[in-house]
Amino acid sequence: MATTMTTETSGMPEPIRNGEGAPILGPRNVPLERENPDLLISPWTDNGTIPNLKFSFATARNRVLSGGWAREVTARELPIATELAAVNMRLKPGGIREMHWHKEGEWSYMLAGRARITAIDAGGRNFIDDVGEGDLWYFPAGLPHSIQGLEEGCEFLLVFDDGHFSENETFLITDFFKHTPREVLAHNFGVPQAAFAEIPVDVAHDRYVFAGKVPPSIERDAVESPAGTVPQKFSHRLLAQEPVKAPGGQVRIADSVTTFPASKTVACARVEVEPGAMRELHWHPNVDEWQYYISGRGRMTVFAASEHARTFDYQAGDVGYVPFAMGHYVENTGDETLCFLEMFRSDHFADVSLNQWMALTPPELVKAHLNLSDETMAALSKQKQIIVR
Ligand code: MN
Ligand code: MN
Repeated sequence: MATTMTTETSGMPEPIRNGEGAPILGPRNVPLERENPDLLISPWTDNGTIPNLKFSFATARNRVLSGGWAREVTARELPIATELAAVNMRLKPGGIREMHWHKEGEWSYMLAGRARITAIDAGGRNFIDDVGEGDLWYFPAGLPHSIQGLEEGCEFLLVFDDGHFSENETFLITDFFKHTPREVLAHNFGVPQAAFAEIPVDVAHDRYVFAGKVPPSIERDAVESPAGTVPQKFSHRLLAQEPVKAPGGQVRIADSVTTFPASKTVACARVEVEPGAMRELHWHPNVDEWQYYISGRGRMTVFAASEHARTFDYQAGDVGYVPFAMGHYVENTGDETLCFLEMFRSDHFADVSLNQWMALTPPELVKAHLNLSDETMAALSKQKQIIVR
């Protein structure tokens, strides 16, 4: 009976197109097949072997803790993603991401709610701010910092400038205390050893992400430094930034050479693609692209040269990746606005538009390659379209 099933009769997605293919007979995972229609029925233009370019936070291990939770997508989950790694973290009201530091630069996007962030630099200049939805922060490598949920709690995406980063291997203040001889602690702080009788020493009592009290107003919480505040703010209000309007949506770009000077190693573009529209065919001339899908549904084909191309489908909570220089587009395949982050380990955002390149090249030369009509050549745009309708 199964051999006679078609997409219509079974109500199931089946790998059948124009009389080719056949229904699945063996074990299957229908929800995953529905989420990945361009893998189940690969476009005929796809070809060759391409590494996996998708990983969902929904299939990442979640560390559930008293103050919230944290899950990560790194080069261990998505091996191609060597340039950037990410953590999706939730903090309850008052929940604290322990005071810590790490070897990587940390960029962040607030997904929901609000948090208070603190840091200092090597000159003893400090920083404190309250961040809300759509706000960014950037803590340079090696500088110590903290994050705490405010009244409504929060959830955010952390992006680190090394794909091999692990959130489970940061330098924690409690860990440092735990592993320093008590007489050295006493000497260092000029107090008796008894002052450290209650510091947490049990691994089971690791702070890391722990419950806390909602802090008072930022005015009451702030500490004044004799050295003043950090010269370049570690936070940025991305949504307050005027977007670049495109025919099919809009984009906000934040990098160290434009609106976010402190973000020296990470550049971002927050892209909104309307239903029926598409991020145009392009590539990036500097680095890999790491993507995080915030809302909606989309698909992307990555062109890897030498006849290699593969199409992937993405939805909210997915991570996508495009290795350096590979051509791609991102098409909205749903009925709501597709919103995603394009992230780069770079001090600046850069892209090359296929459309613009062709428009700015002698037309006879372009026509000689692709047999395009004069009408098609005339339709090319000398401006980047960014998002086409
Ligand atoms: Mn951190
Ligand atoms: Mn791109």
